[in-house]
Amino acid sequence: MLLHIGIDDTDSAKHGMCTTYVGAVLSRKLAKVGEVEEAKLVRLNPNIKYKTRGNAAVALALRTKKVAEAKRITRRVVEELACFDDNNTNPGVVFYEGEPPEDFSRFYRRALHEVVGIDQAESLLRERGAEYVKYKLGRGIVGALAAIGAELSRATYEYIAYRARERWGTPRNLDTASVLAMDALTFPLTFNNYDYAERRVLIAPHTPCPVLFGIRGTSAQVVQEAAELVLPGEDIALSMVYKTNQGTDAHLQEVSRIAEVRPFSSVILAGEVASAPRVIQGGHVFFELCDEHGEQITCAAYEPTKGFRNVVRALIPGDRVRVYGGVDESRTINLEKLEVLRLKRERLANPRCTRCGRRMESAGKGRGYRCKRCRTVAKEKVVEELERNIQEKLYSVPPIAMRHLAKPLVLCI
Ligand SMILES: [Zn+2]
Repeated sequence: MLLHIGIDDTDSAKHGMCTTYVGAVLSRKLAKVGEVEEAKLVRLNPNIKYKTRGNAAVALALRTKKVAEAKRITRRVVEELACFDDNNTNPGVVFYEGEPPEDFSRFYRRALHEVVGIDQAESLLRERGAEYVKYKLGRGIVGALAAIGAELSRATYEYIAYRARERWGTPRNLDTASVLAMDALTFPLTFNNYDYAERRVLIAPHTPCPVLFGIRGTSAQVVQEAAELVLPGEDIALSMVYKTNQGTDAHLQEVSRIAEVRPFSSVILAGEVASAPRVIQGGHVFFELCDEHGEQITCAAYEPTKGFRNVVRALIPGDRVRVYGGVDESRTINLEKLEVLRLKRERLANPRCTRCGRRMESAGKGRGYRCKRCRTVAKEKVVEELERNIQEKLYSVPPIAMRHLAKPLVLCI
């Protein structure tokens, strides 16, 4: 019998913990009653603000003859490890025996693109006769169900090393040189290990959670081998390799017009830059994008996207672009990637005076242009070539600002 176990919302940004750790501990314990055939780490809609963290759920597929025992172990592990004192933590566990139905996959896709309620998860689980456990509000059944339903046709892998309990909350001492050496040897089969522009190690979190470091890559073998190159500075108490939807752009959906852009979704949308980018206090950059129906939407590159903002600031009205990003409640697109499709290369301008070089002024409607000082005249505007310092290509926010689900440029080819 194949038993699917989904778990979500056991973690707490404040107190630490991490649902992937619960999954790792559980898969160790379940090894006594069967064989874990698949372990999935699934990121869901990144635009939902219940949590400031990554919105991750896990699902294990266990080949077992001891289903009741496996369920008992699961409950015990979740009850032992979940952060029940955090008001914002509402764990949920889902069990499903046999091949998950197609509507579980549909539910997964909805949980990536929409805001899905606990009641919606619950009614589908009842309809399909699945067993589930809600702790407190039980919001976790949403992610638990979605994680079971996730068919990861496009997937990456993450190796995660966990710390001994007595180390939780203390500073991590990874050897940076070993991370750089690992990156040099394994990139692009692993990715987002280090941000070279910001000089920051990205494989270790800065939260009190049990994760020591995590390495993302294109196969289970690669991430495991890469992990052996890292000098962790302390003992690794437990490790786990998950198959995941991270780095796949699974959250993005192409929309053909701005009117279809819904709050809390993540979109790919082509259009024309309609306003000169403006920088506001705090260093955030905004511009308006319009489509051929004349509709407009605001696109944003916030301060944490660092050097990416220079690309956005270099846009001018008339450039044709394709934007990729999450949509907030006021329908602003938070840019993750930007593809410059066609740069505006020339513009019409008032002619320059042949004598003094100053720009001429209009001499009145239909009466051409003139230089007031030299009295020179010209009939028409002239075409001027624009100097552009960006290229027609795909740009991304830097690794340090990349969302879990965002596909790195190196995998976009
Ligand atoms: Zn002049």
